[in-house]
Amino acid sequence: MVTSYPNLLSPLDLGFTTLRNRVVMGSMHTGLEDRARDTDRLAAYFAERARGGVGLIITGGYAPNRTGWLLPFAAEMLSSSDARRHRRITAAVHDEGGKILLQILHAGRYAYHPLSVSASSIKAPINPFRPRPLRNVEGTVDDFVRCALLAREAGYDGVEIMGSEGYLLNQFLAPRTNKRTDAWGGTAEKRRRLPVEIVRRTREAVGRDFVICYRMSMADYVADGQTWDEIVALAIEVEAAGATIVNTGIGWHESRVPTIVTSVPNSAFVDVSNALAQHVRIPVVASNRINMPQAAEQILADGAVQLVSMARPLLSDPDWVNKAAADAADEINTCIACNQACLDHAFVHKTVSCLVNPRAGHETTLTLGPTKRTKRVAVVGAGPAGLAAAVTAAERGHAVTLFEAAGAIGGQFDLARRIPGKEEFNETIRYYTTMLAKHGVDVRLDTRAGVRELGTFDDVVLATGVVPRIPDIPGVDHPMVLSYADAILGAPIGDRVAVVGAGGIGFDVSEFLVTAPAGMNVKEWQAEWGALNPQDAPDTRGGLTTPIPLPPVREVYLLQRTKGAQGRGLGKTSGWVHRASLRAKGVQQLSNVNYERVDDDGLHISFGADHSDPRLLAVDNVVICAGQESVRDLADGLRRTGVEPHVIGGADVAAEIDAKRAIRQGTELAARL
Ligand code: NAP
Ligand code: SF4
Repeated sequence: MVTSYPNLLSPLDLGFTTLRNRVVMGSMHTGLEDRARDTDRLAAYFAERARGGVGLIITGGYAPNRTGWLLPFAAEMLSSSDARRHRRITAAVHDEGGKILLQILHAGRYAYHPLSVSASSIKAPINPFRPRPLRNVEGTVDDFVRCALLAREAGYDGVEIMGSEGYLLNQFLAPRTNKRTDAWGGTAEKRRRLPVEIVRRTREAVGRDFVICYRMSMADYVADGQTWDEIVALAIEVEAAGATIVNTGIGWHESRVPTIVTSVPNSAFVDVSNALAQHVRIPVVASNRINMPQAAEQILADGAVQLVSMARPLLSDPDWVNKAAADAADEINTCIACNQACLDHAFVHKTVSCLVNPRAGHETTLTLGPTKRTKRVAVVGAGPAGLAAAVTAAERGHAVTLFEAAGAIGGQFDLARRIPGKEEFNETIRYYTTMLAKHGVDVRLDTRAGVRELGTFDDVVLATGVVPRIPDIPGVDHPMVLSYADAILGAPIGDRVAVVGAGGIGFDVSEFLVTAPAGMNVKEWQAEWGALNPQDAPDTRGGLTTPIPLPPVREVYLLQRTKGAQGRGLGKTSGWVHRASLRAKGVQQLSNVNYERVDDDGLHISFGADHSDPRLLAVDNVVICAGQESVRDLADGLRRTGVEPHVIGGADVAAEIDAKRAIRQGTELAARL
């Protein structure tokens, strides 16, 4: 069969076993690993990805001993009874023709409990617990080996030994965290002895026909990290010790270089994996910010890597591989790298899901089978909530009509996609456009649905969204004042701007105002964050240099009434990136502000309850980002005629318009219709 992705879909012979294609589902801790009672949910989650065609799945991290737990009582593989339970997972994946590795992860100083250990007693900046220096290093090697043997007993096709992202093995490798002077530190050779010993002794124990994937850090992006020469030497020794595959990790969790958020350019780290692949004969996996088949194919066609790893894109679409194989990439529900339902959940110990696919992690409870009784369903509003409801209902066999007052679908996503670094939100609009057509939804753009017309449907879903809140500031009707929607959609804006409201949208709008519209290429992005290609600077430790951000294109003040730091409500894994980015662009952040008035001179403000320190911000424009109010005028009219609508998304709760809740609400509602 002719395919657009011949490299991506070609099998890979590992000598003793063959992977059916080049797609690796990278490890992602879902939270379902931590409790035995969630084993069947986890099995269903992996089975769905195997059924969707993934060649090789890697589980979330399992600790080889208790000091290595990520959290107290977190996932571990310590006994034959653990292994027996995992047989449900491995059997489910094998029944679907997939292969699966257990990831062995020792958290080291990232362990969030008092038993934590590391190479030396140096606290991580992102963890309150100070680790003890690891005394029984040989015992830890034994624990990794025992864990691998148990994985084999559980039916896994192999293990991934987690040596990147700043976890224990990475901590032994970097002088930043390894100050030992014994046999496990002091020189680069001794620092890499622990991971190499683990691979060597695991290979001796498990025999030849078991995959050992070693995930190594290609760039630490922390001060006093590894040099490129040390990274290459490690890969060569790990291969000699018996590894089957080298997987890629980029950056430590404490690194201040973003590696996975939306604003990181696609395929930004492929060059470093290609550079490493020149030094070893075993397959190297490329990873990070790869989410569509065309890019994955290009990476394999052009480079030296032999596999491509994706974690989040397979959360957002379990059928990713099958869709690529059917030449239907436009049907892929693309990961937009928002982290809102995956990593942000993982960091607060909530079960991981996906903003664009709320079934992820809930495969056994959120089922979307065909309906037994086809209904005529009207959905009003084509923002994220309405789109999710319309497509899901139509997919289940209902006859759906989607009304949208604007000339295009997307709602708040149509604004978000115009923010520099959020261009990928386009992919969600593309996905819904394709699925509306595929499932025969009758889409009526530029159409305001009336109560009488809606009354003829069996079910009415109101997803009419929000309008920007206009705050009660004297002079708010001055021509220099713009709503955030006007600003993003292209209203002329001067060189000096005040942004009223520092929530998610205030941050986005500030980013929009200070950034040149052309966006950033990989080189500019690296300069912005001071990130080097480690292979281009072999003597530099950690791959870091002085950041040289592009100059801001406007002078911006970002204002809020609340006291204290701004952006505290932003996502755990992306908020710091937004805050750092605005700081680098010189955005002046003012809190505890009173908005006194707007006039021809600009925005007059003061501070605190006593209105002290009055100031004029002599700006050309004021952009209002003061939250939203729900639009649900139709609801009352419908109720008066005896129709009870389903109200979802921002129309339901505007207080925290939130695409994650909107899409989940739309999908769950359509599952019940
Ligand atoms: P928001 O987060 O609720 O922020 C609204 C801002 O307006 C606050 O800073 C608030 O601060 C201010 N405000 C509220 N009422 C005001 C009034 N009457 N006068 C003046 N200022 C007022 O809302 P949003 O920024 O519109 O974002 C909505 C949602 O979109 C977020 O909750 C988030 O889920 C999502 N979002 C997230 C991101 C992201 O994480 N990057 C980006 C975009 C959107 P003060 O009360 O202190 O002045
Ligand atoms: Fe991707 Fe966002 Fe879904 Fe995470 S929540 S998998 S980042 S789309």
